[in-house]
Amino acid sequence: MTSPLPPGSTLGILGGGQLGRMLSQAASRLGFNVVILDPKENSPAGRVSQGQIIAAYDDPTALSVLGQTCQAVTFEFENVPASSVQALIEGGASVSPGPGALAVAQDRVDEKTFLNGVGATTVDFAPVDGLDDLLAALQRLGSPALLKTRREGYDGKGQIWVRSAAMAADAWHAIGRRPAILEARADFRRELSVIAARGRDGAIAVYPLGENIHADGVLKTTLAPAHVDAGTQARATAIAEAILNGLDYVGVLGVELFDLGPDVDEGARLLVNEIAPRVHNTGHWTQDGCVCDQFEQHIRAIAGWPLGPTTAHFRVEMTNLLGDEVEQWSKLSGKSDARLHLYGKAEARPGRKMGHVNRVKPL
Ligand code: AMP
Repeated sequence: MTSPLPPGSTLGILGGGQLGRMLSQAASRLGFNVVILDPKENSPAGRVSQGQIIAAYDDPTALSVLGQTCQAVTFEFENVPASSVQALIEGGASVSPGPGALAVAQDRVDEKTFLNGVGATTVDFAPVDGLDDLLAALQRLGSPALLKTRREGYDGKGQIWVRSAAMAADAWHAIGRRPAILEARADFRRELSVIAARGRDGAIAVYPLGENIHADGVLKTTLAPAHVDAGTQARATAIAEAILNGLDYVGVLGVELFDLGPDVDEGARLLVNEIAPRVHNTGHWTQDGCVCDQFEQHIRAIAGWPLGPTTAHFRVEMTNLLGDEVEQWSKLSGKSDARLHLYGKAEARPGRKMGHVNRVKPL
């Protein structure tokens, strides 16, 4: 793609959940048509888009139709099969972010190796392919340490704390004896994240940091802009830039950070926990805090448009509505500072992300 895609073009999104839905809504506002690929009928994104292909993510016919219909293709989750992206590209589709970024984000060992290579420091870690590896890594990294599957973990799933060598065998069993990573424990004061974007021309735009509060491994609240000093924001921006450039990235990226606190030297204070090669739950605050939110930003980037401004005009407290918390919609709808974002999911299963609310106040 050499020139910006004009309104009226069609964009494809792999994944029909809430992130796909909000991407589709942003694309629609800019005059694009959107086609969703998702195996489930009636998906949250499919229902606000021009069309949905109901097929598996690796269905060759579906990928071929998507590639031929759409002038640019993206995704809302990082576990898209690499073979699907390859098939789309071989069919002539423009897919962003590209396969290199996906591959790095899909494997925790590759991800940490890449991050350290571009100067974005992480906790110390070791690959683990068996119980002997785990015991050796535990000796080197100390306990407690966190054992995570290399692939396909999210929201705290597929990970277990190993508190002593005596626990190692049970832990290895608990994660299914799959290729894993052992991570040293980060002694952090708080969790931050930075949402950033890179355009087709290599321009970069970085939003202010958010502070995140998790419950049971799932994001509960983001407060943004976080109360941080200028040096911490500058360091986070530099980390995001190094990652985006290192991956030759196009689109929005989420970077989860551990803040080790003011006692640690400024340059070493932030560690990267993980990256998400997509729009991110901790970036939902931008919908009501910024002129150009992360969803529009991603659409702009993949369509080859100039990136939008990332300045915050409001302070936002974003709270996820999980499971039957969505019933609060009626009370929240009457609050003068609250903006509701509901995903149109029929069934409020416990812990399921049903919507979120942004409560805004002046900076
Ligand atoms: P993750 O799935 O990697 O995002 O991890 C989920 C949560 O576990 C993070 O948000 C942290 O609260 C915690 N966590 C992950 N890795 C570490 C670590 N190396 N040290 C301490 N806490 C961690």
